[in-house]
Amino acid sequence: MAKIIDGKKISADIKEEIREEILQRKEKGEEVTLAVVLVGEDPASQVYVRNKKKACEFVGIRSLSYELAADTTQEELLSLVDKLNRDESVNGILVQLPLPKQIDEDAVIRAIDPKKDVDGFHPMSVGALSIGQPGYVSCTPAGIIQLLKRSDIPMDGKNCVIVGRSNIVGKPMAMLMLRENATVTVTHSHTKNLKDITRQADILIVAIGKTKFITADYVKEGATVIDVGMDRDENGKLCGDVDFDSVEKVVGAITPVPGGVGPMTIAMLMKNCLTSLELK
Ligand code: NAP
Repeated sequence: MAKIIDGKKISADIKEEIREEILQRKEKGEEVTLAVVLVGEDPASQVYVRNKKKACEFVGIRSLSYELAADTTQEELLSLVDKLNRDESVNGILVQLPLPKQIDEDAVIRAIDPKKDVDGFHPMSVGALSIGQPGYVSCTPAGIIQLLKRSDIPMDGKNCVIVGRSNIVGKPMAMLMLRENATVTVTHSHTKNLKDITRQADILIVAIGKTKFITADYVKEGATVIDVGMDRDENGKLCGDVDFDSVEKVVGAITPVPGGVGPMTIAMLMKNCLTSLELK
């Protein structure tokens, strides 16, 4: 039976630690403020934003909420970002993605002051991560490192295979695993013989957005499997990119969906907000 990596518990521990630290900082007169910008009425985005604000409230971060109409122009959004960049009382700026199609997401990400880029998506943050300099790290991959560390799963010298090369998960994940001295292979939709590669993994991290794609024949016995996917099965139930029921019987440790990687993303966002005090 595999060890089930409990993201709910680990994220709760991290949020508790952050709450403590924010309390101490407050006693020294320091306050953290996160500006959360939502454009339009996408139901999933509304849930994410609500959960982020709830987490802020729990840890003691002040959150400012900007809810803009779906037909907001790029100029209007950029002007708000500019205002928040210049506002000394704002430490972090989060623009919830995806944005409506009339707005160029890259332009908005680039417009955020890198010192306030708590999502870690700005090219400056990505560059700093690549060359091992301090800066914000994309929350989901940063959360996966915490899941592994806090579950005592060693990364040094291990074979890590990442399935998926997105800018928000796969690529920063590879950089972080290199920082932990793992030997890293990144695979994607053009990869040949994927199974042969994933079966070499001591740590297999899957972020492709394909329901239950990774089955038991993709994994090595005793491996650790991290499932980033947030998909829906044929009954509309939330599930991952990994076929949990078959894979769990073979591997040494695995994250469930829900309750694995998902809760870590918001915990690491709170951590990045705390980092904003150092980068100010
Ligand atoms: P994405 O931007 O759509 O990228 C998907 C990646 O998977 C691409 O690199 C693609 O390759 C690769 N891929 C697709 N089919 C493949 C296949 N058959 N074999 C190998 N690689 C394949 O996805 P994402 O934003 O990284 O998200 C991935 C999943 O994670 C989604 O389910 C998303 O909802 C979830 N997610 C969860 C969290 C969380 O907090 N838990 C955060 C972010 C994302 P190409 O580059 O060649 O197209």
